[in-house]
Amino acid sequence: MTASFPIAAPAVLGVMGGGQLGRMFAHAAQTLGYRVAVLDPDAGSPAGAVAEHHLVAPYLDEGALADLGARCAAVTTEFENVPAQALRALAGTRPVAPGADAVQICQDRAAEKRHFQASGVPCAPFATIESAADLASPALDALLPGIVKTARLGYDGKGQVTVASRAALADAWRQLQQAPCVLEQRLPLARELSVIVARGRDGSIVNLPVQQNLHREGILAVTQVPPPDIDAALAGRAVQAAGQLAASMSYVGVLCVEFFVLADGRLVANEMAPRPHNSGHYSIDACDLSQFDLQVRTLAGLPLVAPRLHSPAVMLNLLGDLWFRAGGAVAVEPDWPAVLALPGTHLHLYGKSEARPGRKMGHLTITAASAAEARRVALRAAAALGLPAF
Ligand code: ATP
Ligand code: MG
Repeated sequence: MTASFPIAAPAVLGVMGGGQLGRMFAHAAQTLGYRVAVLDPDAGSPAGAVAEHHLVAPYLDEGALADLGARCAAVTTEFENVPAQALRALAGTRPVAPGADAVQICQDRAAEKRHFQASGVPCAPFATIESAADLASPALDALLPGIVKTARLGYDGKGQVTVASRAALADAWRQLQQAPCVLEQRLPLARELSVIVARGRDGSIVNLPVQQNLHREGILAVTQVPPPDIDAALAGRAVQAAGQLAASMSYVGVLCVEFFVLADGRLVANEMAPRPHNSGHYSIDACDLSQFDLQVRTLAGLPLVAPRLHSPAVMLNLLGDLWFRAGGAVAVEPDWPAVLALPGTHLHLYGKSEARPGRKMGHLTITAASAAEARRVALRAAAALGLPAF
């Protein structure tokens, strides 16, 4: 479809999904004078609460999609499980970025891994399991011990079962409702990195600095930027690979690529997210352009400029568990004053009315003049909140 760029404010920018990522996209868009429309079935969605328009409807609701298309100059997405069909329907009338084809690749672990391979980016050895015959294949032996992951709809470690033996494999697949899965080899991780790139309609690419991530129980817990003692050449290879993966999908928008660094120093791609990512939240407070600023710029066809990290940072995820400390049955507010009394703390709460264990309620970014100082203060903040050290 033809459209004229850049899109000028106060045009309305649309976002599929109303979670915290959509909320922070809305904040960035509104700073540039745009208005925002959110489509999300939840009337209490975090982004819906701050957007000018909140269409409360299922993602495939034809009337709602037509309404969103009519209101918006362009539409983006904030979660990868938005139906590709909905993006295709919208793309008939409005520019949509990222496009349905790229989102579809990122939605399916098998397609994603094939894209890694086709782009010359190493990933964990894997096989697809879609039938009993696949499950019986002798080739799976070489992948054990491994992890069975549902090909679609997994997040925060959900839809994953670790398997040590062949016997455990059939059980694991049953546990996952025999949905299409991938079995990937369990790799010895030395550290986890992620890279966020933004690619414009003109093919220009910029990146945020490389992040180091610590997961607890499959959920991101801590991001450190810059990564402690990172080898510059390795970081450069991760940035280069992420840019390559975006370019080979003709991607427009913000893309996050998660990487493993193996014990022997090899760099292996884990997965991609076709949107801003939890590991990039620090960029709001620590960079002169955030991942959400980049998302707005790519959508509106505005120039991309390489973001600069102006302060080393540590980001702590704030999960709903914090509201139930010491095993309490009743939700109590965490001690924010204790955290806000520390220097360089930036508290972001997503406006979710109900805390639940494992639910992402907010994040805390600590910025400081040095990485060592950011870490020292982050450890004090973690202690004040009852979070483990890292
Ligand atoms: P998220 O949505 O939080 O990114 P996810 O549910 O998509 O998570 P993955 O990124 O596939 O899940 O895996 C979550 C974590 O589990 C990884 O960050 C890593 O710590 C661990 N993990 C996943 N795959 C492997 C592997 N092949 N070998 C070793 N550890 C792994
Ligand atoms: Mg992941």
